[in-house]
Amino acid sequence: MAELTPMMKQYLEIKKDNPDSILFFRLGDFYEMFADDAKLASRELDLTLTSRDHGKHAKPEEERVPMCGIPYHASEAYIARLIAKGYKVAICEQMEDPATAKGLVKRDIIRVVTPGTVIDAACLEDKSSNFLCGIYIDSQNAGAAFCDISTGKTHLTAFDGPERVEHVINELGRFSPAEAVVNDGAYSEKALTDTLTEKFRCRVENGGEGRFRLTEAEKNIRRQFGEEAFDRLPRTNPAAAMALGGLLHYLYETQKTDLSHINDLDYYEQGRFMELDLTARRNLELTETLRDREKKGSLLWVLDKTRTPMGGRMLRSWLERPLLSVTAIVKRNAAVAALVENTIAREELTAALTGLGDMERLIGRIVYGTAGGRDMVSLRAAIERLPALREQLTAFSGGRLAELAGELEDLTEIGEHIGAAICDEPPFSVREGGFIRDGYNGEVDRLRRIMNGGKGVLAEIEAKEKEKTGIRTLKIGYNKVFGYYIEVSNSFKDQVPDTYIRKQTLVNGERYITQELKDLEHEILTASDRVVALEYELFTQLRQAISAQSARIQRTAAAVAELDALVSFAAVAVRNHYCRPTVDESGVIEIRDGRHPVVEQMLKDSLFVPNDTFMGEKEDRVAIITGPNMAGKSTYMRQVALIVLMAQMGAFVPAASARIGVVDRIFTRIGASDDLSAGQSTFMVEMTEVADILRHATKHSLLILDEIGRGTSTFDGMSIARAVLEYCADKKLLGAKTLFATHYHELTELENTLPGTVNYNIAVKTRGEDIIFLRKILPGGADRSYGIEVAKLAGLPDKVVQRAKTVLKELEEENGVQYVAARKEEDQVSLTAIGEGEVLDALRRCQVETLTPLEAMNLIYEWKQKL
Ligand code: ADP
Repeated sequence: MAELTPMMKQYLEIKKDNPDSILFFRLGDFYEMFADDAKLASRELDLTLTSRDHGKHAKPEEERVPMCGIPYHASEAYIARLIAKGYKVAICEQMEDPATAKGLVKRDIIRVVTPGTVIDAACLEDKSSNFLCGIYIDSQNAGAAFCDISTGKTHLTAFDGPERVEHVINELGRFSPAEAVVNDGAYSEKALTDTLTEKFRCRVENGGEGRFRLTEAEKNIRRQFGEEAFDRLPRTNPAAAMALGGLLHYLYETQKTDLSHINDLDYYEQGRFMELDLTARRNLELTETLRDREKKGSLLWVLDKTRTPMGGRMLRSWLERPLLSVTAIVKRNAAVAALVENTIAREELTAALTGLGDMERLIGRIVYGTAGGRDMVSLRAAIERLPALREQLTAFSGGRLAELAGELEDLTEIGEHIGAAICDEPPFSVREGGFIRDGYNGEVDRLRRIMNGGKGVLAEIEAKEKEKTGIRTLKIGYNKVFGYYIEVSNSFKDQVPDTYIRKQTLVNGERYITQELKDLEHEILTASDRVVALEYELFTQLRQAISAQSARIQRTAAAVAELDALVSFAAVAVRNHYCRPTVDESGVIEIRDGRHPVVEQMLKDSLFVPNDTFMGEKEDRVAIITGPNMAGKSTYMRQVALIVLMAQMGAFVPAASARIGVVDRIFTRIGASDDLSAGQSTFMVEMTEVADILRHATKHSLLILDEIGRGTSTFDGMSIARAVLEYCADKKLLGAKTLFATHYHELTELENTLPGTVNYNIAVKTRGEDIIFLRKILPGGADRSYGIEVAKLAGLPDKVVQRAKTVLKELEEENGVQYVAARKEEDQVSLTAIGEGEVLDALRRCQVETLTPLEAMNLIYEWKQKL
């Protein structure tokens, strides 16, 4: 290889240590990328690819390396795009001023930006957290750690036993991580890595075993979160500490900066939150819809009326983590109830929270060192809202709201400090000055005065010199040849002091310079550079002063976020007429006039028909629900699940009254799944999901099973459905509360023989051949399935509808076994019927007068084929 230029050598050295990142190499005002990085970046970012000599001497074409660049001040947006596509970007800066550096400028990596560690606002969504996760799995244990570095919040949990991997996968659903660093054991679990990459489009980094060592993990956890934090972790399961250790290792490796805002570790054990698998989360459309994966149409869309991004994230985390402890649930819903009752306080709080901003991420950026002047102004504005919040909270004497009032720290001092230091509308960058408020720092003020032509300062010198010398006509002027000078008219020449240096003689006077004037001139020329440097220095000091208070600010921000989420629950409860549920351990679900929270919002003109639910532990554990398609079976079942979920989040629920005995898990088996694309048949997916449910459900779970057995032949399907029902109902086997919708009317007979089962149907009325949906759930099984009426409603051709009726009638006269045997023949008959209808239709529509004889013959031939 030809001898490289020193700069290219430096580049390759740095690139060698960061082989899997795109290296942004700072060159003056640009970040340049070379070789493969350049090719990749030009493709992903639509940049023009150029090339550059990398040899010392002029070289032929093959010695040129591909390169492309972006202006440094526009880098945020480019980085955001690369991160969104799952790349890592290593930022290499000039570590000294090129103007003063001797020889090659020193360069170093200051940060590696990765999908799980971005902190720039451009890359983050306001109301969702961005989690980096660490996963450690070995032959006995598993640990999973999740950290949002924009806010510093860290969650950790651990499992053991044969189902540890499944539990970890379910935890992923709560956090939807953007990036995962995993040990070899976790990397080899295909179900886990597939879920990460396919379901969460998460970047997965195999961190090997080295990053997860327990001794290093312990040291780092103690350092990052404090001694007690480590001591609280379970001794019997080291996987927790190891998962977190791996995560911290990766953070230190990529973020070469202050991470002291990451100080709040929440270790939780199984049993604190309701476990929901990914299927249930998706089917119940908690945070996004099944079909379009959009927030609109999800439960979150209905419940989230928060006013701050941090409140939005808090509310979302409540949705992802419904509670299991009755005490914790009641504490939260009591706070919501208090806000529902006190309209004035609720509205005042809403007003004070509106526009309060994202204190949590602001303090994150301040500690991290990426905050700018505008972030400071936003923090000050947020702090100024706190007294109003505290004042409104005085209305509440006990419970969570009173506690929150206590957690809102008095940050007035910090707000005032910012107010004094930073002007109201600072520019975007802190590198170009112009953001320190006048009067904050004497030197800044003086330099600014000098910068503005130094007029005031010159006048001061002029006055001073006049006074000192007694020369009345003395005046200060400026020319390009020798800068500032003092001009004295001839009549006063004798009074000029020795310190004046004569520079020019004019007809009626002399011009002099003095050391003071020379110094001033130098100051004027350099003032703008110095004020920029000084302002930056002052900004850094302010940032450090605030960072030192970060724990107080974080505590306050967390309290504001929680208050915002509670106020949102209350506002939604009032607006949508929800009720406060009674939550207990009774094992009973009793809902009067329950509604589906999302469907009722979607139905604009027509009204949602409320329905009751009663499920106990004894005779009414299992509800067998029949009724035609479109009657509302699946809406009803989801409504029950959502009401239970909302109650366990501590929210009010869409019903006239509700008593909810907490359930440990909710399982769903509903409709088609999008796993079909993964090459499994509908039936296979259905059965895998049912198998999963029956394996993991307990008698405290709630099961939503929609049309089990639909994907296979009638008798197979019915047999499976019946066996599943019996299993669910049997207290010795499972005995879980189950809502079971089915097409198999035969199953309604089980009510008489299978203890614990009750029949329900969703009422319809027929008028002539038409069907009217009443949407009301009633005791007892449906009399028949009304499939043909619904098909007619869907617009099936009349001929087909009539023919179907005839076939049905014939079938009903025969018995079931003959039906199965005869089906093939019947299919053919109906096909003929379709053919005749089509031909007749075509004949009627055909315009004979425009046909050529040949066309007419072809048509007749075609029609004959169809008969
Ligand atoms: P099924 O599962 O019985 O086929 P769905 O639950 O999918 O029926 O309901 C069909 C449609 O009926 C829904 O899209 C919804 O708009 C409407 N619907 C369901 N339940 C109600 C109700 N209680 N009140 C008003 N409309 C309802």
